[in-house]
Amino acid sequence: MPQGCPCGSKYRYTECCKPLHDGAPAATAEALMRSRYSAYALCLVPYLLDSWHRSTRPALGLDDLDPATRWLGLRIVDHAIDAGDPEAATVEFIARFRVGGGSARRLHERSRFRRVDGRWQYLDGEILKPA
Ligand SMILES: [Zn+2]
Repeated sequence: MPQGCPCGSKYRYTECCKPLHDGAPAATAEALMRSRYSAYALCLVPYLLDSWHRSTRPALGLDDLDPATRWLGLRIVDHAIDAGDPEAATVEFIARFRVGGGSARRLHERSRFRRVDGRWQYLDGEILKPA
């Protein structure tokens, strides 16, 4: 997918994750999740920090992103708004990646998001065991 968005959607980057990277608010937690995956693929550290909830945001630097990591694909498994709180959502996803010349690995995570002042932010995540 040479000109597809890094998040693996059917859209071009300029019509998918780039507007979010340029500052547009994500319409849903899933859209934010996709844009954060793309940001990892493109090493957009400032965006990763901006989209991280203040309470859990790490002191992330470019050095914390391994340039040998290649992000191979993203699959959204589930996206749900919390029953009692429309400002909270969870997104379950599987991201595939490869480090250097190693074999492809999977990150299966259920992430929690919160909307703060109209902007979805990543709160934290739980790694799920491979099936
Ligand atoms: Zn995208």
